[in-house]
Amino acid sequence: MKQTYLIELSLLTALVVFCIFRTLRSRKQIARSVLFVLCSIVIPLLGNIIIAASEDPVICNAGYMLFLLGTNFVLYTLLDFSLQYCSFPPMKRGLWMAVTAILTADSVSVFLNNFYMHCYTLEETLLESGEIYYILKSGPGHYIHLALSAVFLLAIAGNFIWKMTRSAALYLERYAVIFLSIVFVGAWEFYIVLLDRTIDRSMIGLAVGGILLYFFAIEYRPVFLKRALHELLVSNLSDAVFFFDADGVAIYANTAAASLFGIDSRNLADSAKILGEKITGSAFIKNGMRVEKDFRTQVEVGEGDGRKYYDVTCRRMEDKRGNYLGTFFGIQDDTILEKESRESLFRQTHDQLTGMINRDVFIDRVNQKIAQKTGEQYVMILSDIADFKIINEIYGRDTADRILCDIADSIRQVAHEGSVYCRWGADQFAAFAKRGVITPELLEEEIRACFRPDESGSRIRYPVVIHAGFYEVTENELPVAAMVDRCQLAIAMVHDDYQRIVYVYDDELRQKRLWEQRVNTELPGALASGQIFPYLQPQYSSSNALTGAEVLVRWQHPEEGFLAPYRFIPIFEKNGMIAKVDLHIWEEACRILASWKGTERERLHLSVNISPKDFYFLDLYETFTELVEKYGLDPASLHLEVTETVVMNDAVENIRVINRLRDYGFVVEMDDFGSGYSSFNLLRDMPVDVLKIDMAFLGKTSHPEKAEMILNNIIELAHQLNLISIAEGVELEDQLRMLKEMGCNIFQGYYFAKPMPLEDFEKLAA
Ligand code: C2E
Ligand code: CA
Ligand code: CA
Repeated sequence: MKQTYLIELSLLTALVVFCIFRTLRSRKQIARSVLFVLCSIVIPLLGNIIIAASEDPVICNAGYMLFLLGTNFVLYTLLDFSLQYCSFPPMKRGLWMAVTAILTADSVSVFLNNFYMHCYTLEETLLESGEIYYILKSGPGHYIHLALSAVFLLAIAGNFIWKMTRSAALYLERYAVIFLSIVFVGAWEFYIVLLDRTIDRSMIGLAVGGILLYFFAIEYRPVFLKRALHELLVSNLSDAVFFFDADGVAIYANTAAASLFGIDSRNLADSAKILGEKITGSAFIKNGMRVEKDFRTQVEVGEGDGRKYYDVTCRRMEDKRGNYLGTFFGIQDDTILEKESRESLFRQTHDQLTGMINRDVFIDRVNQKIAQKTGEQYVMILSDIADFKIINEIYGRDTADRILCDIADSIRQVAHEGSVYCRWGADQFAAFAKRGVITPELLEEEIRACFRPDESGSRIRYPVVIHAGFYEVTENELPVAAMVDRCQLAIAMVHDDYQRIVYVYDDELRQKRLWEQRVNTELPGALASGQIFPYLQPQYSSSNALTGAEVLVRWQHPEEGFLAPYRFIPIFEKNGMIAKVDLHIWEEACRILASWKGTERERLHLSVNISPKDFYFLDLYETFTELVEKYGLDPASLHLEVTETVVMNDAVENIRVINRLRDYGFVVEMDDFGSGYSSFNLLRDMPVDVLKIDMAFLGKTSHPEKAEMILNNIIELAHQLNLISIAEGVELEDQLRMLKEMGCNIFQGYYFAKPMPLEDFEKLAA
């Protein structure tokens, strides 16, 4: 009998030790507490083994000691376990000390039994098998020990009960299994007491309880909890989830799926159809919702404000052996996020005011079109509002904005399919279209139509003038911004022209502009390095004597070669830089005159040209007087050629300057007389000494006799006004003879000589 019990105990001990090793390897947080419980159970187990194995009363007593003291350890570790398992906050230090004190006191009391016998005495009993067994006869100390154990067990069970009543039904299982293990131990003890057998088998309950505790706390995964959690997770997921089995039958759809697609989750029959139509396309339905590969895609459903954006994940489900199980669909409603990101993208890529795409996006799209290399030819158009700043000031910002929006609307209305357009800048809109669909004439008509009120009266109602630059794209490689620049260039050619609207860019125009820019930037260097210098064209008297020369500027350009004045003078006259050229040439002329002093050539004069702009930019009186003083010249040797424009610009002031120069001793010549709008009245007001008549213009007339008469009269008049007359542009002997007969004084022209370098002239005048 004792033997059977011994075997039972040994087996249980081995099992507990096995559990200890398993627990040691567990990574769970609770493992430590479980380990303590299991280790503490080993002590009373050993005690019981000693009791069962020995027939010596002293050894048996030691076994009982171990048993009783061990149970105290078990109670202690079990309490600690229960607190941890239920995730209670750690017990107050004081309370732990009290618990420890009580258990220690009980243990001391058990130990003192060796002296006072107040707990138990051992009674030798003869078992039916004939073996001797020492049973424990309880004294008051032992009853206290038992009561203490009961209180502890109740407290521990209480912890679990409390936890179970507070926890969600979902977690009940977790606590219930441990609670039931403790109940089992209690029930076993009770059963043993009731049974009242000679051999006390209570230890078996305790050991089994410990093993159960180990199993539930360390090994067991609450199946129900896991499944319930998964179910809960999936059904509460904001993503819609569908599952189709291998035959394409919908077997699961979560709450989100049902509400998102209006499916009754109890009747999933239509799911495939609805899902196929709304999201994934019919290909899946035909294929029994079967997919060959996992995929993820973005889907848009619906129109306008009700448009929805879904992120669809589709997964082919297979078992471990690769058998097809079905298809899983996870569908996330990205509408809010997508709309937000689309809005922010819109803000980044569009003009806030007109809603048109901005410059960067326009450039991208045009480049894309060109990159397609369809062989198509294109045009670039740029519209520009004249004096937009003034419109802003006069009508206010709101109205100006309104105008911009009106223009944008008009562009949208007339834009041809496939064309790209944008708000290019403040008051400029750019459009890129196929050549042929829009011509400058059509564009002009369309822009004019924008200002004619239509039935709804929604056309542009303000007096704005729009100009447009039109560029037929000849070089597709050109950067888009450069294409627009060309339109801008075409518009820039318009100055105060309120009649035409569309200006077509042509390459000549561009070359001209480029040349202008180049010449402007290169002028300072050219002046400093001597690329700009004078040529002299001789002048002769009626007796064929050399009287002097006109000084004409030339530019020896390092790359462009020898430049005649028409290549650069008009450009510099436009922006006033002519003054720099003239100052340089005048100084050169003075230097030449100075070098002639004391030679044969001292009697020759030099005529220099004065541009109308010089009157504006320079103090001519000061300039010329300083020059002749600097070079010690007779002012009469320097002739100043002015044109009639000078008196038309600022008559009073300019005439004053001319008079002062004449008073100082300079000879002033009226250049190009007869070429412009010259009137004889001009001669009355203009204080000059010489009249210079251009033959070239007389030669062009279809009535040579009349021209001759006029010429004759001019020369006559000059004489009467005491002016010297010079004819320039004399090319033919007949011309010369006629001019001589008319009484002209001086002659200049290719008949005598072309303008020439200084050295050549000096040889001529040796
Ligand atoms: P301009 O003052 O009327 O100068 C006379 C122009 O007629 C010169 O042209 C000269 O080469 C050209 N010419 C002379 N004889 C004949 C001829 O028999 N037949 C023809 N067809 N042409 C003849 P160029 O040198 O090209 O100068 C053109 C214009 O440039 C000048 O016209 C003048 O207005 C301006 N210019 C030249 N040098 C200067 C300068 O230093 N300063 C300023 N401000 N203007 C200058
Ligand atoms: Ca001249
Ligand atoms: Ca002239």
